[in-house]
Amino acid sequence: MNAANDVRMIHFQQALLATGWEENVRIGIRHGLVATLSTHAEPQPGDERHAIGIPGMSNLHSHAFQRGMAGLAERRGPGSDSFWTWRDIMYRFVDRITPEHLHVIAALAYVEMLETGFTRVGEFHYLHHDRNGTSYADPAELSQAIMAAAADTGIGLTHLPVFYAHAGFGGTEASPAQRRFVTDPDRFARLLDAIRKAATALPDAIVGIAPHSLRAVTADELARLEELGGAGPIHIHIAEQMKEVDDCLAWSGRRPVEWLMDHAAVGRNWCLVHATHMTHAEIAAVARSGAVVGLCPVTEANLGDGLFPAPSFQEAGGQYGIGSDSNILIDMTEELRWLEYGQRLDARTRNVLASGQGRSTGQEIFQASLEGGAQALGVAAGLAVGHVADMVSLDANHPSLVGRGGTSIMDSLLFAAGRQAIRNVWRRGDLVVSDGRHVARDRIAAQYRKVLEAFAA
Ligand code: ZN
Repeated sequence: MNAANDVRMIHFQQALLATGWEENVRIGIRHGLVATLSTHAEPQPGDERHAIGIPGMSNLHSHAFQRGMAGLAERRGPGSDSFWTWRDIMYRFVDRITPEHLHVIAALAYVEMLETGFTRVGEFHYLHHDRNGTSYADPAELSQAIMAAAADTGIGLTHLPVFYAHAGFGGTEASPAQRRFVTDPDRFARLLDAIRKAATALPDAIVGIAPHSLRAVTADELARLEELGGAGPIHIHIAEQMKEVDDCLAWSGRRPVEWLMDHAAVGRNWCLVHATHMTHAEIAAVARSGAVVGLCPVTEANLGDGLFPAPSFQEAGGQYGIGSDSNILIDMTEELRWLEYGQRLDARTRNVLASGQGRSTGQEIFQASLEGGAQALGVAAGLAVGHVADMVSLDANHPSLVGRGGTSIMDSLLFAAGRQAIRNVWRRGDLVVSDGRHVARDRIAAQYRKVLEAFAA
């Protein structure tokens, strides 16, 4: 950790700042923040020296515990497999998790996030109660496990406790398989209080709120949640699945995004996770609202959700960020690569998300996701004085990065080198990943192995 008043100097030959790519960048770090920043500055004796620096990325949507079931739902069932058959397997996994398991599984997920350049996570946390559905003595016990995993690994945490009350649209009763999530507004308010208190122990944790989906929340409950959440981040799963769109239409005559925009004060503190299935009118309304759409390209592909209408949304001026969601595979570069590749396969053309001639696709999708992700998680984006020193260095000797400069670094990082080019990661100025490995990886991976071996026995 930094001594209280020391300023540590880090020099990058090239770095991506909030103002764009610059050469010879010297960054002074104090109390975890960027205290000084100069460009065209020669390195001084005592500076730590690195070739290429970029800001850490926000992972705006994660269910950390699902890391423990990655790969367990890839076997074909008797009928057509879907999100809903995947969910049955996930519910069986949930039944077995203790607070200690959650701590260990989340810690491994956060190690992997940091190693690929994610420095903050939006943890959409819906596992609240004991295995029989009753509250723990400390109602925030499982949130405390998430916070312990964040503390262990150093990742920034925007904790999003989930309100989940119903199995389907119109307030239908939750199923026994959902007993570890289900709550009511009063019980949830007490939980939120306990979580907010616990979060003060983490240096820059933020607590938001997450109505799980329109399936799980009634209109009255949603209004109450908006009050409880205040101006903090509000995240909701929406329009991920066509069945969800059809069920919402059958219940209300409206599509999910259409219904939400009519019934909630959706604004810049909102994150609409997935929003895969939207009409042109819905796309325009979300873009106008200033809300961020949370895209999880790897999970959406894995679950067969469908393809987000990114070109229309971008044309409407909409904002997006990326998330690792089910954590089937944790890799910042792969999320961004598939964000673009999905669109190329659909449109049968190239460089779909670059905004115009000569523009770099890699740079533009990284920058958009950096800004959207930070907004969704309630923090400032990019490297600038006063911002948190969350930074990543790249291996300039990686074959795909040799001779690259400025925006072409991002194209080569995202489409060619991938995560192997990520060298060091600093969180609040502390080195948490050194030469591609998290500093606590061995210990955390050994604990994880024990938990997963016990599950398999
Ligand atoms: Zn999700």
